[in-house]
Amino acid sequence: MQEQWSAVDNWLMSALLPQDEILERVLKNNQQAGLPAIDVSPAQGQFLAMLITISGAQRVLEIGTLGGYSAIWMARALPEGGKIVSLEFDPHHGRIAQQNIDLAGVTGKTEIIIGPALESLPNLAQQPPFDFIFIDADKRNNPAYLDWALRLSRPGTLIFGDNVVRNGAITDAQHPDPHVQGIQAFLQDAGQSGRLTATALQTTGIKGWDGFMLARVNH
Ligand code: SAM
Repeated sequence: MQEQWSAVDNWLMSALLPQDEILERVLKNNQQAGLPAIDVSPAQGQFLAMLITISGAQRVLEIGTLGGYSAIWMARALPEGGKIVSLEFDPHHGRIAQQNIDLAGVTGKTEIIIGPALESLPNLAQQPPFDFIFIDADKRNNPAYLDWALRLSRPGTLIFGDNVVRNGAITDAQHPDPHVQGIQAFLQDAGQSGRLTATALQTTGIKGWDGFMLARVNH
């Protein structure tokens, strides 16, 4: 199946997405620097960018920077004066991301904060709320990230959680992987929060069989 999923994804991306030398360079830089290829796909990057444009978001929070690939997609979609704050645990990832962000010319719109996200998030409580929150780091901490996303949001904020299907593993209630357990709790918490309208969609493509959750903060 993977071969077919990739072929269709590549076909769709070549039909719909413009060739982008900067973003291709970013992926090469990540590879050369030894970063894992776990960034969003180009189609997913375009989707995130479109969600930001459609929702009129000006302040974006990303949890999980890696080499800055998704941050660049989102920063490009922001209007003049918009800002993305991206949290990253690994200083090496952060350094490569900063180089990539400079290369893409979105330095003025992007701030990377190095450290465990759960230590960085409380410091953001003094800032104005975020309009769009992309959760894409260590999935075992997703329930805590959802709590913080709710604290750092306003009515109308969109919360996007990546990798919520994990090859179907989420249906296994006894799954031993803490990341799967984190996603299960994250989705259940979102469904029961009372403050969110949420949905999730499965995806297949160059990144395999996975999916995302999209939620809107209602109050
Ligand atoms: N959003 C990125 C993209 O699409 O280009 C991909 C992010 S990658 C899936 C996850 C990143 O989260 C990794 O760079 C990893 O080092 C980082 N990470 C893992 N645990 C973290 C933590 N506790 N706090 C902050 N970042 C963390």
